[in-house]
Amino acid sequence: MIFHVVTIFPEFFRGPFEHGVIQRAKEAGLIEIRVQDLRIWTHDRHRTVDDRPFGGGEGMLLKAGPIFEAVEAIYPARRENRRVVLLSAQGKKFDQALAREYSGLEELLLICGRYEGVDERVAQHLADDEISIGDYVLTGGELAAAVVIDAVARLLEGVLGNENSAVAESFSQNGLLDCPQYTRPAEFRGWKVPEVLLEGNHDAIRKWRKQAAREKTARLRPDLLEMREGKPI
Ligand code: SAM
Repeated sequence: MIFHVVTIFPEFFRGPFEHGVIQRAKEAGLIEIRVQDLRIWTHDRHRTVDDRPFGGGEGMLLKAGPIFEAVEAIYPARRENRRVVLLSAQGKKFDQALAREYSGLEELLLICGRYEGVDERVAQHLADDEISIGDYVLTGGELAAAVVIDAVARLLEGVLGNENSAVAESFSQNGLLDCPQYTRPAEFRGWKVPEVLLEGNHDAIRKWRKQAAREKTARLRPDLLEMREGKPI
């Protein structure tokens, strides 16, 4: 799968994709991450990407022109398996279901906003989706793009060493959180690992994990349980 990122800070992406699973996926040719400098698609001496908002107000906005040109250059033709996403605090909330949907695409293009945001015509007439990674405001879309790429890439076939890792985890199979997990030592500062996990009875372990996952979900994310049981949140 190819990820394209359009940003005014391409150097931001030197770090996030050079470790662990994502780095190995790149080396294995399973994913490609192409980071593009938005300023390539400017035509003035100062390589201007921003301007003041009509009607007044704080700060600057990224202009529509360079972003439209960038997307049209990267995707000369739009196809169903190529998606354009604008990262935005106002967008639809990104979640595991959307990560799974995106993992079925061939190419995903992520537009990173900056300053006070992006000319609204990008959301209205260029992006397929306007996506937020959570109800808070970041200084730019770069961190959000890195989050989306990480979450999508790990769902692609062959990226995780063990394919079951992406099945038996939070927000997957049954929509609940993953169960609590422990590793050695069996006792740490007086806190013991639940006895059932040490006894080797796989049936009992399965039951305990199911119950523990449900309890943890009820405690930390009751909204997930309510959604699963079809109740209004
Ligand atoms: N004025 C905007 C508002 O109030 O909604 C906030 C703009 S923010 C300072 C600048 C850029 O950061 C946005 O254009 C977007 O690309 C990115 N951004 C900020 N928060 C985000 C979030 N929660 N999810 C995804 N992108 C976000």
